[in-house]
Formats: sequence, structure tokens, C-alpha cells
Amino acid sequence: MSAQREEKEFQILAKAEAGNRISTQEALFLWQQGIFQNLMRSAEKIRQKRIQAGRVSYTAFRVVNYTNLCNIECSFCSFMDEVGSGKGYTLTADEILKKIEEAQAQDVHQLFLQGGVNPDLPFDYYLSTLKTIREHFPSIHIRAFSPVEVLFMEKITGLPLEDVLKSLQQAGLNSFPGAGAEILSDRVRDILSPLKADVSEWLRAMETAGRLGLKQSTNIVWGSEETDQEIIEHLNHLRNLQDSTGAVLSFVPWTFQAQTKKFRIRKVPPHEYLKMVALSRMFLDNIPHIEVSIMVAGKQLGELGLFAGADDINSPVIEENVLRSFGLKSIAEAEDFIRSAGFTPVRRNFNFEEGLKS
Ligand code: SF4
Repeated sequence: MSAQREEKEFQILAKAEAGNRISTQEALFLWQQGIFQNLMRSAEKIRQKRIQAGRVSYTAFRVVNYTNLCNIECSFCSFMDEVGSGKGYTLTADEILKKIEEAQAQDVHQLFLQGGVNPDLPFDYYLSTLKTIREHFPSIHIRAFSPVEVLFMEKITGLPLEDVLKSLQQAGLNSFPGAGAEILSDRVRDILSPLKADVSEWLRAMETAGRLGLKQSTNIVWGSEETDQEIIEHLNHLRNLQDSTGAVLSFVPWTFQAQTKKFRIRKVPPHEYLKMVALSRMFLDNIPHIEVSIMVAGKQLGELGLFAGADDINSPVIEENVLRSFGLKSIAEAEDFIRSAGFTPVRRNFNFEEGLKS
């Protein structure tokens, strides 16, 4: 049995290393029965074929959560205040500008603007906020909103989603995060966040944005109620999305954090985290970059991820309200981290472009 397992694993890894697409059944086999060191070795070979040797990229960005009022009420969210609770905040454009100024003073020119789904905000709030930012900071890269937020805008405006996104683009939106995916399984979503966009809606938002040229990041958040099959199903949704739009630039594995108390959660062990990094490098053969989130994985495990197929560290981040952070706090710290792991740091913007004010 063991020899059969080894032979099957060897064949699948060789197939991936040769640049051939592995199937969902093969990915499931690797996830359930593969040896994580073997997956790491293969993923590292694939990374070396696809990414210039010795380079690890990073991006310095400022997170601004423009409102923490939200009516989606995901059970894992420690950030939101319920609408009508008398608590919570919504930032004015001036307050957002001030946060950007603080970021620019630290040589940070990428803005990640995201908030809860606040039913009190009209569509014009989003447009005027983007326009004001663009007027004051013409060259800043604005990555903003999420499928859930733009689907809400579609609802309140009654406009086709494509028109909503075009208006946001015209107002200054540069790229679009694939946030709120967690696990793309309606069964799991019904447990974790029943009011959130279901799988088909989430994908519709990503596809529409991708077709309009909005480059995207994607992720998985696992370590809760999902099955192995649902993990592979999630990865397959992302691979199919990318086959259809070509707009996805990166994938980053995240795990559920310890503050989550409202559903079953387990601590993902380090070998499983590394296996996810490696498997994503192999299975997501059409997504160019695999990121490790130092904020979530921590420095030690994050460094090992760079030897499991990842080529980017998704850091440093200034201000992160949704998760507790133990990430890298400055550009110098990020560069030191990459160098100490034996790589050359390459600064990039959200669209993986280098130079300019990235
Ligand atoms: S994760 Fe986002 S959508 Fe869910 S409750 Fe928190 S702010 Fe709202």
C-alpha cells in the first residue's frame, strides 16, 4: 500500500513539475496522502521555473477600513459593529486622506480600502471618496472593496454590476481584492456567514471585475468546518475563475484566527500550512504568484513558505483591524526578513509592477 502511495504521489508530482495541469482528484490525493516535504520540493522546482531565481517580492500597503458597521454579521468577524448598535464608525474623506498622508510619510503608496456592508451609506459615498483620494493623490494605487461590498452597491443602485464597477473605476479604483472568499462552498458559508454572498454571487463579482481589467488577489481561509473535498473545490473555483478572466495575479493561504469562537476551529499545524502553500503552487498553474501572509503565518512559518513555492510575503501592512497582526511593520523590516531568508527583496505594487511608487 505504501509503495502504491509513493508511486502515485511520484507520478502526480512529476506531472506538475513537467508543467501539466493536475486534476482535482490528484490534488485531493496530494492533500490527503501526500508527504508535505515532497510537495514542498516539487513546488519549489515549479517556483524556480516560473519566478526569476532568488527573488521574493513584497508590497507595502496601508489598510483603511472606512466603516466597521456591517449587516453581514460573519460569525468569525471581530471587527464589525452591528448596524443599529449605537456603536461603530464611518470615516469621512478627510479622515481617510489623513491616513493616506501618514502612509505616504512612511513611503507607502498602496491603499487597501475596505469596510463592512453599511446600509446607511449611499453609492455616492464610495464614488466621492474615491474621487477625493484620486484628486489629492493622483498616483496612489487604490485597491478597494470586495465582492460583498460591490454586490451591495449593485443592490442599492439597481444598476448592473458592470456599471457599478465601471463607475468605481472612473472614480479612481485601480484593482479589486478577492476578499470574503473564505471557503467557496455554500455548505460552509451557511455555517460561517449565512448572509454573505454565496459561491455563485462571489464568483460573478470577481468575473465581472476581472473582465473590466481590474486585477485581483485571491485567498483561502481554512481550519474550520470545511472538508478536504471542499478545500480542493475552493481551489478549483479559483483556477476556473482565472481560466475565464486571466485577472488573478496572486493567491494567499490564510488560516482562521484564534479569536474566532462561534464555530468549530482547529489550529492548522505548520506542516499543513506548508502543504497548502505547495499544493496551491502546483494546482493553481495559471495564477502567477503565491503569497505567504507573514501577518497570519508569522515570521518563522512564513519564511519556510518561501521554500514551499511562495514568492511573495504580502507585507508590510500598516493598520489591520480585521485580524490580530504579528506581521512585519516597516519596509526595512520586510527587506531584512527577505534577505535573512536568502532572497533578494523586490518591491512591487498591488499589480505586481515594480518601480515607480510601488
Ligand atoms: S468579515 Fe466583512 S462582511 Fe463579514 S461581518 Fe466582518 S466586515 Fe462584515
